Amino acid sequence: MSTQVSFVQQVNLNFDKAAQFIDYPPGLLDQIKTCNGVYHMSFPIEKDDGSVEVIHGWRAQHSHHKLPTKGGIRYSMLVDEDEVVALAALMTYKCAIVDVPFGGAKGGLRISAREYSSQELARITRRYTYELFIRNLIGPGVDVPAPDYGTSEREMGWILSAYKALASDSLEVTACVTGKPVTQSGIRGRKEATGRGVYFGIREACSMKDDMKLLRLPPGLEGKTVIVQGLGNVGFHTAKFLQEGGATVVGIAEYEGAIHNPKGVDIAQVMQHRIETKSILNFPDASNVQSTAQALELECDILVPAALENQITAENASRVQAKIIAEAANGPVTAEAQEILKAKGVIIIPDAYLNAGGVTVSYFEWLKNLAHVRFGRLGQRFDENVQMGMLSAMEKLTEKRLPESEAKLLTRGADELNLVTSGLEDTMITAYHTIKETQKQHGEEVDLRTAAFIVAIEKIAQSYLELGIFP
Ligand code: NAD
Repeated sequence: MSTQVSFVQQVNLNFDKAAQFIDYPPGLLDQIKTCNGVYHMSFPIEKDDGSVEVIHGWRAQHSHHKLPTKGGIRYSMLVDEDEVVALAALMTYKCAIVDVPFGGAKGGLRISAREYSSQELARITRRYTYELFIRNLIGPGVDVPAPDYGTSEREMGWILSAYKALASDSLEVTACVTGKPVTQSGIRGRKEATGRGVYFGIREACSMKDDMKLLRLPPGLEGKTVIVQGLGNVGFHTAKFLQEGGATVVGIAEYEGAIHNPKGVDIAQVMQHRIETKSILNFPDASNVQSTAQALELECDILVPAALENQITAENASRVQAKIIAEAANGPVTAEAQEILKAKGVIIIPDAYLNAGGVTVSYFEWLKNLAHVRFGRLGQRFDENVQMGMLSAMEKLTEKRLPESEAKLLTRGADELNLVTSGLEDTMITAYHTIKETQKQHGEEVDLRTAAFIVAIEKIAQSYLELGIFP
């Protein structure tokens, strides 16, 4: 196979591999695979020095079998049509895998966010929103963006305010974008949702006794060594939750370089060091690694690429020592690399499942916005009162009193973050076992990625058949 395989082709290769195991009409499979629409727009923005720059942006809507379409907005110099179409396709499959009722979409601007002031970024983001709005490419029931590489809550807040000015009469305006700040109709737990979902997915994979036996690892997260590439939103939160769950983060790679300590580094301290010095390098408790790429090849149990696509390729796959690759980023392992890793017995937890926590909690945020009520608002106090009543009845019967801290824990009602976290955990656990079951049904040659694609294709095909478009 040529190394010139594009990102879209990589995703389609994975699709085709899975399609061999299921029996649907070729026309239906073609429709599922094809990107329904991709829009390229360019627009001028004024920079702080008064000069004008033309910005190039895209929005791809891969599938309209469910509406709205949904997918992040990326700011990166690598953004082009191929990238947004590939990422939009992954969104379609991802939503199906975790039962989020959206079609897939993705957008991006070809800019390096670091090169602009926040005022310039605000102007760029507002103008992009306007460009989406006039083409009917944004709206609560049409297409709902979210954060991705190079964007965050801040950009989503700008999108909301720009959209509000354009569609001021709609009751549902706040549902036009997710991943917003909590103070601007966001939801608690969205910022960390992708990383938390990655953690739940890795934890589930590591709990599989038979799989761990094949890797000659004990089951569970405790003591497993981890290297994370990309200390952004997804990478940082994944590392933090893995560390809290008992794993040891032994290496971190960023674009400026990498650090390593076989005994482990404290992720919060690394982040603090990066904030203070603007770099992860020279962290007192670790040694610098010669290059970011080299960090991917260091010894560890779990490698978590959480930056960009095409990081593990035919060139470096044979040198990767990790036994598990957890795809927090989209498309970090190329199709060629995947074959090499499979032959080495490496387990790859695929992106289309593993990083679906973001869109899952985006779905909760969208529901919250449409319902105009915070999760937990109606039931939290009632649940607390019922539980307190039960506890005091038990205390009366037993003539014993629980310490206040324990009583508080036992009687608390679920707040928004508790409910979001519980919904996310359930989603990630359920989806993992659905994929695993599918893998078991098809036998040895089906890996987790192929199984995840089989699950996705079957669900989307079913939607199309229910829509009555295909006989
Ligand atoms: P981010 O911009 O917050 O962070 C990315 C980090 O990666 C940055 O700190 C950047 O400096 C670093 N990086 C870039 N190139 C690197 C390299 N070669 N080596 C090491 N580090 C490098 O982005 P994010 O939101 O964390 O997204 C990361 C990945 O996760 C992307 O593939 C994205 O599509 C995927 N993802 C994100 C979300 C989300 O909710 N944000 C959801 C699903 C999937």
